[in-house]
Amino acid sequence: MQVVLASGNTHKVSELQALLPSLSLVGQDEFGIEPVPETGTTFIENALIKARHAALQSGLPALADDSGLVVPALGGAPGIYSARYAGVGASDSDNNRKLLAALADSTRRDAFFYCYLVLLNHADDPTPVIATGCWHGEIAHTPSGNQGFGYDPLFIVRGTVSGHPSTAAQLSQDEKGMQSHRGLAARQLHDLLSTDA
Ligand code: IMP
Repeated sequence: MQVVLASGNTHKVSELQALLPSLSLVGQDEFGIEPVPETGTTFIENALIKARHAALQSGLPALADDSGLVVPALGGAPGIYSARYAGVGASDSDNNRKLLAALADSTRRDAFFYCYLVLLNHADDPTPVIATGCWHGEIAHTPSGNQGFGYDPLFIVRGTVSGHPSTAAQLSQDEKGMQSHRGLAARQLHDLLSTDA
């Protein structure tokens, strides 16, 4: 099934396509669809806004991923503002620098990634398929690794890889997908779609 993915983030497209091989995902920019303002105050609201916009503009079923990093010591920030934590147009490094500065005096460094996936058959679909996943870890004091995107270089995953602690940016895409918020949500979505069939 061809599905438009309501994201211009090439890392997300690549991660989700690997996790959901039964769907043929096409990034919305390939249809010339501009991003819609994310005016919700929760991940689920923003995922619905993005999926509805992409379905309306493309006339195709649409999948949206709204995700971000939640840091309890910062009252849940950056949360839904993860992509623009250091300002609109901020780079991943800008956001990571701001996060390290915000946690400089904090002894508490636990954090989790959160992901909502929403699949709509069409823009007015009243029965969205909704899946979610959560990934717990700790925020490092310095970045490590060059895989992945966003806050991956600062996100120390629980457990070890080959006996060493590791950040999400030190995992291959497959290793990340086996434990990540997006991997969990994608497997849940896959199960829901299989049950519906
Ligand atoms: P969205 O595109 O509005 O959902 O924003 C997602 C933002 O959350 C990204 O730009 C990253 O900053 C962050 N984020 C979401 N998932 C991940 C991940 O798997 N690794 C690192 N950062 C992530």
